[in-house]
Amino acid sequence: MDCDRHLNIDLHIHTSASDGSCTPAEVLQLARKLKLGAIAITDHDTVAGAREALRIGIPTGVEFLTGVEISANPPSQFNLSSTFHILGYGIDIDNIEMEQTLALLQDARRNRNPRILERLQQIGLTISLTEIQHEAGNGQLGRPHIATVMVKKGFAESIDDAFDRFLGKRKPAYVDKFRITCKKAISLIKAAGGLPVLAHPYLLDLPDDQTLEELILHLKGLGLSGIEVYYPEHSLERVDHYKTLAARHRLIMTGGTDFHGSLKPEIRMGSATGDFRVPYTLFEQISEVL
Ligand code: AMP
Ligand code: ZN
Ligand code: FE
Ligand code: FE
Repeated sequence: MDCDRHLNIDLHIHTSASDGSCTPAEVLQLARKLKLGAIAITDHDTVAGAREALRIGIPTGVEFLTGVEISANPPSQFNLSSTFHILGYGIDIDNIEMEQTLALLQDARRNRNPRILERLQQIGLTISLTEIQHEAGNGQLGRPHIATVMVKKGFAESIDDAFDRFLGKRKPAYVDKFRITCKKAISLIKAAGGLPVLAHPYLLDLPDDQTLEELILHLKGLGLSGIEVYYPEHSLERVDHYKTLAARHRLIMTGGTDFHGSLKPEIRMGSATGDFRVPYTLFEQISEVL
């Protein structure tokens, strides 16, 4: 039998409950097929994917953590304009306050979609809500679903192209949405028994390492427990730097691919574009503190 220490894990996975293309059942089957030692389902602003996975039953040999990825407002003094996501691991999916807050965030997302479609209409790109609903199935609609329809209709060459030219920040069809503060996101996750983790620090586009360290210290003061050290877009040098920061500030380390199935086609579960791997020992360390 494989020694657990040689297994890979993937603690950042989206399902069809948000903007992944695989259902929770498909994610579990794939994790088993890939012999991943542990996974976490971390859908945007919902625990429906994690709940469904638990309902189906986790396959033998794969350890499972409940998760969520909350879009939050960064602390105002850091003047960040980029994606700011807080991951929560090992949360109680029946926590009432968490449920209520996630419901608000889901409403905000629902309200934004028609406004994005109006913006696209203004520049001559017609897409109906029904068309994007068809892409999302029963899950929540997000920009990747709109991007997929844009590719199908020939309005963009790829999902990335749709974001780069139309849907991304500062682009013609960008519409902001209501977010909770990172303080609230962190305290909600903790109150639900989970570990709040700063997602993909590299994507924060911070001016320098000192600012990142100040941000981490600030978030730690709010209750942050960890940093997502391993992420496909983190270079080896970045990973080393994030490891150092985690050790210096006694934070746990997490990692994952941000798997979205066909909505992020270049990223494979567990291995991203090829040689990416997150060691099983991280899962053991997380289990110790949960
Ligand atoms: P939303 O939740 O609707 O704000 O969409 C967020 C999702 O869009 C995330 O899962 C990202 O993976 C995806 N996304 C954000 N920016 C880009 C981009 N430039 N190219 C491709 N996907 C992106
Ligand atoms: Zn996503
Ligand atoms: Fe994210
Ligand atoms: Fe993600």
